[in-house]
Amino acid sequence: MSESRRDVLKKFAGGIIGGAALLTLTNKTSAQTKKEPQKPEDPAKKYKKYAKVDPLIRMEAELKEALKKDQQKWVMVIDLRKCVGCHACTFACIAENRLPEGMVYRPVADEEIGKYPNVTRKFFPRPCLQCDNPPCVTVCPVKATWKSADGIVDIDYKKCIGCRYCIVACPYNARSADRGQNTYLKGFPASQGLIVGQEVLDKYEEKPNYEYVKKWVRKKHESPIGNARKCHFCRHRLKVGMLPACVTTCIGRATYFGDKSDPDSLVSELIQKPNVMVLKAELGTKPQCFYLT
Ligand code: SF4
Repeated sequence: MSESRRDVLKKFAGGIIGGAALLTLTNKTSAQTKKEPQKPEDPAKKYKKYAKVDPLIRMEAELKEALKKDQQKWVMVIDLRKCVGCHACTFACIAENRLPEGMVYRPVADEEIGKYPNVTRKFFPRPCLQCDNPPCVTVCPVKATWKSADGIVDIDYKKCIGCRYCIVACPYNARSADRGQNTYLKGFPASQGLIVGQEVLDKYEEKPNYEYVKKWVRKKHESPIGNARKCHFCRHRLKVGMLPACVTTCIGRATYFGDKSDPDSLVSELIQKPNVMVLKAELGTKPQCFYLT
């Protein structure tokens, strides 16, 4: 029996609807299987997840992010209200850089404020301020020190002739001369059984330091003996994704470190505060270690 005109139209319409549905389904499936392009992280929220954790965790995460970039601008921020004067940073630095007796890259000065009996103490850590306009660099007669693009003022111990011009030129007293002094345990009378024994302690002190990402073994008449030395924000640690030793050991979490060229970093946030200051701003040296007062 031949189909009526109505039946033919019904089939035709059903075919169109079915086809369209199949098409929609196919499109949906291919859309589902296609990988959604990753949205870039909202810069404002980038480090928000660290808001309630130890700032060290945030700074470590930021450091790893910064190292992925071609260029960084390292700065330090010290919150003077949080420094408790424990000197942990000073000693961590001495151990990290195997400084000899009498040489300190990061002293902590203290001052008594008020009149007895209403007195309090204020503490003031002072690393090299990694000035943007460093007078120590311009006076060097052999170009053994320079301002690097990442913000650190470097020294080439092999070029340094030990003239000490830079030590005099630094208005912050941040450089000192390595005159070949003893390390802390050398010269002590030999004693038996001091925790691990003198011999082991001596060996510990003979271990090299890795300033400026090079290996320096302490030997007579060899660098860095005879050179000008100073804080370098632990460049060797930064290279492997570790924060400077003073930052990680600060028990008051008073020291912050990071990349100023990242506008969302903790240090960028802190240096926007109204209570930020730099040492001797009037000299025009443009220090890159900032203090919160
Ligand atoms: Fe040079 Fe002193 Fe400035 Fe450090 S603090 S960069 S040593 S002038």
